[in-house]
Order: sequence, then structure tokens, then C-alpha cells
Amino acid sequence: MESIPESEESTVAVPTLSGPFALTKSGIDSAVTQSSAGVYALGRTSGNTYYISRVGRSDVNLNGRLHDYEGQYAQFKAAYSSSPYQAFLGECELWHEYGNTTSNPLHPDRPKDANWKCPRCKVFG
Ligand SMILES: [Zn+2]
Repeated sequence: MESIPESEESTVAVPTLSGPFALTKSGIDSAVTQSSAGVYALGRTSGNTYYISRVGRSDVNLNGRLHDYEGQYAQFKAAYSSSPYQAFLGECELWHEYGNTTSNPLHPDRPKDANWKCPRCKVFG
């Protein structure tokens, strides 16, 4: 089965996500095999289009975070991030691109002790 490729040192851009995969216990575990930070987009496929309902990230364990959403959405797309900071940048890009919706209205947060800035807006100054 296809799984997510190794993360690359990413530039600031909307991350390329792998998938969609089934948002089930086995679907997550067969696609997300590394213990890694990462970003994801939850949604469903209709025809040839993947509709994104929610985007997010995990700073430490993409696999574990996806399991929290089991049963709530049909599918997910995801990518590993090379660091928590890269995951934050990726989530900001995804949110500005796809996530700023009624079901996903809140701008991505950053860790309390981080001074990271969003690459797409001035919400953090
Ligand atoms: Zn922003």
C-alpha cells in the first residue's frame, strides 16, 4: 500500500499532501508509519475532487493526532514535516489556502513559548 514519503526540508509553500487515505485505524497506520511531526487535511472525495473540511498539524506525532479524528471524517491527506516549526508553517499555508471556513474558522496557533510568525498574515505581528 502507498504510504507517505519521507519529509523534505521544505520551503515556505503550501505543503504537498499524500492521499487521500481512509481515516480509519488501519488506513492511518498503513499510511503514516513514521513517528513524526506533520500536517493534514481531513475531508472526503466526491467525483475527482477532494473536499477539505479541516486542516491541522501535529508537532510530534502525526499518526496519533489523526487517530483522534477517526470516524469524524471519511478521509485524510497528510505530509510529514521535518520539525515542529515546519509543521506550523505548513499548517498556516494550508489553513489560508483551504481551512478558513465555517467548520475550521480558527487560525493555527503556535506553541506558547514560540515567536513564530505566520507566513501568510500578520496575526502574530
Ligand atoms: Zn496566517
